Formats: sequence, C-alpha cells, structure tokens
Amino acid sequence: MHAAQNKLVLASNNPGKLKEFGALFATIGMEVLSQAEFAVPEADEPHLTFVENALEKARHAARLTGLPALADDSGVCVNALGGRPGVQSARYAGEPKSDARNCDKLIADLADQADRSAYYYCVLVYVRHADDPQPVIADGRWDGVIVSDPRGAGGFGYDPYFMVDGLQRTAAELSAAEKNALSHRGQALRALIEKLR
Ligand code: IMP
Repeated sequence: MHAAQNKLVLASNNPGKLKEFGALFATIGMEVLSQAEFAVPEADEPHLTFVENALEKARHAARLTGLPALADDSGVCVNALGGRPGVQSARYAGEPKSDARNCDKLIADLADQADRSAYYYCVLVYVRHADDPQPVIADGRWDGVIVSDPRGAGGFGYDPYFMVDGLQRTAAELSAAEKNALSHRGQALRALIEKLR
C-alpha cells in the first residue's frame, strides 16, 4: 500500500475529536492527521443541512492537502422548535460562540413548551479526494429531553441540559466512555468504520 493510502486528514481543529477519531481509525489501520498540520483554514458552514456542511468541510480539506478527508457536522434538534438549533447549534446565541449563552437561549425559547423532546444528530462524510463522486456517509441520532435545570460536569455544549432517554442522567453525567457508547457521534463513527472496513 502506498504510504498516503492509509492516512486521512480530519477537517477539524478540535484536539478531542482528533483523539477520539484517531483511536477508532487505528483499528482499521488508518492514521488520522489534523488539518492544522497542513494549515488548512476553517471552512464555512453556510448550508441548511448537516450533510452539506460536512461535505463542504471534507472537500475543502481534501483539496488543500491532497489526502482523503473526513469531516463531521453535528448539533441538537429540538422538536418543539422545528428542529432548531440544528445546524446553528454552535452559534445559536450568536458570535462569539458560547455554550453558556446557547444553553440559556435554548431554555428561554422552551419556557412555554410542554414538548421537550430533542435529539443530537451527527453526520460524518469521508471523501477519497476532493472530487470524489461517491462520498462515504454515516450518521447517528441520540434521543433525549431538554431539562431546565443543568446537571453534571462532563461533556460540553448542551450536555448538562440533555436528559438521555431511558436513563435518569444527563449527557454531562456520563463518563466519556459511556457517552461514546451511546452518542450520536459514537454511533456515526462506528457506522463509518464498518463501511470503510
Ligand atoms: P459543529 O462542531 O459545527 O459540529 O457544532 C456542533 C455544535 O452542536 C456544538 O458546538 C454543540 O453546541 C452542539 N453539539 C454537538 N454534539 C454535541 C454533544 O455531544 N454534546 C453537546 N453539544 C453538542
């Protein structure tokens, strides 16, 4: 196998994702490199759907590095809000990005809502090269309800407010391993690995 064939670039500057993705890809003999190593600037996420945003990020990284590329896009979709924050999850309360302000806005928006059901969604897109006509796509969904009183210190983002269906715990009350076994991102990653295997 040519040296470059077992390497891919992750279209993200998040060290946590690099570690988590790197561990799973190692099981199929692939090494995950950060786009920061190639000085790839962050791509825009202008689209209405998760899959379009992820595809754009993956193509952008593949074009600038000449390597196969993987990108993810994720967010929380709240049924009473027609699926919002959705693709806007990271910037729900505007710039600069703030988990605390995003959560405050979400709780305020749900103040009069009886239906608190929601789900986290993650899509992963893998392209062999920038013009790949057949990207490999995998996704995952994790259901829960949005609670008004935050609980737990783990995770990030909306996790303290996301009560996991079937558990009496929020996502922020799970260990990293427990969250990974259940989460939208964990599901998507395992599905993608199976497709690439
Ligand atoms: P992305 O990095 O563009 O995919 O944005 C994802 C955003 O969705 C994050 O900034 C969070 O606000 C939210 N999000 C996605 N996954 C999670 C999760 O596992 N826990 C908490 N928030 C999440």
